[in-house]
Amino acid sequence: MEFFNTTSSLSHLLPQQQHPSSYFDVLRQLGESPDSQIANLSLIERLWASWYIFMNNDILATGLLFFITHEVVYFGRCIPWMIIDQMPFFNRWKIQASKIPSNKEQWECMKEVLKSHLLVEALPIWLFHPICANLNISVEVPFPSYSTMAFQIAIFFVLEDFWHYSFHRLFHVGWFYRNIHKQHHKYAAPFGLTAEYAHPVEVMALGTGTVGFPILYAYLSKTQPYGLNIPELHLYTLTFWITLRLFQAVDSHSGYDFPWSLNKFIPFWAGAAHHDDHHHFFIGNYASSFTWFDFFMSTESGQIAKAKREKKMREHAEKVL
Ligand SMILES: [Zn+2]
Ligand SMILES: [Zn+2]
Repeated sequence: MEFFNTTSSLSHLLPQQQHPSSYFDVLRQLGESPDSQIANLSLIERLWASWYIFMNNDILATGLLFFITHEVVYFGRCIPWMIIDQMPFFNRWKIQASKIPSNKEQWECMKEVLKSHLLVEALPIWLFHPICANLNISVEVPFPSYSTMAFQIAIFFVLEDFWHYSFHRLFHVGWFYRNIHKQHHKYAAPFGLTAEYAHPVEVMALGTGTVGFPILYAYLSKTQPYGLNIPELHLYTLTFWITLRLFQAVDSHSGYDFPWSLNKFIPFWAGAAHHDDHHHFFIGNYASSFTWFDFFMSTESGQIAKAKREKKMREHAEKVL
């Protein structure tokens, strides 16, 4: 069974190596390789290759890498927001200024999210490498070019946003809200940690938008339908994408809208202002990363959007008459 197959697909980089004594031993050997192509790998490529060679089991290597990346990025990204919540100086940029989360609320939420990570997300993460292997998702070095990575990540952002918008809107319909999405709306004034505070069904459904499209992309790049020349997907690109997506999810729940927030530079970037209004007003602003779906589907949140919507409907009705 592949799970117990203890040969890394990257072991060809160090064909002579004896049992490495440590991760850093592999890292050193790669740096001293007589093969100039290997010795010229970037530091991040060498760190990556050493991990796979040292683990000597690609399923474990990918599973652990994804699990650790998820925990470190998610909780690591929440820490600055927890500190900012303690500093009155930043309160001027808090969207719902009177609703600073208490330490007890933060702690309770953290325990629930951690429980969900261990019980709901751990298993799919471990199953990920066999899928990768079947779909030719590469773990090799060197990595693809930054332009290929940016192109693929941009596609994933747009498709995930569409998926998130659709399912999130569905989750606000009667039965789905009462039985699934209600948990996420426990906090009318969100804070970073609440990003993944949700019912297991919601975690799985929305998580599919994050990993499902890369899997579909990998399938298309393997089969190359209609003679398309779709560039291969690399697991590093996928790790990068998941990291950015986690940043987006945590930041949109932060509760702060700064003059230097990304939505001030990219007008169609949703950011915290967009999602905070969703938690506050409960209706509208269903998308995750971009504002365009709510704009075109007339589902923007808040009083101004409501007035605009009503004006448009009135004008349309008058025109029809
Ligand atoms: Zn909602
Ligand atoms: Zn939310």
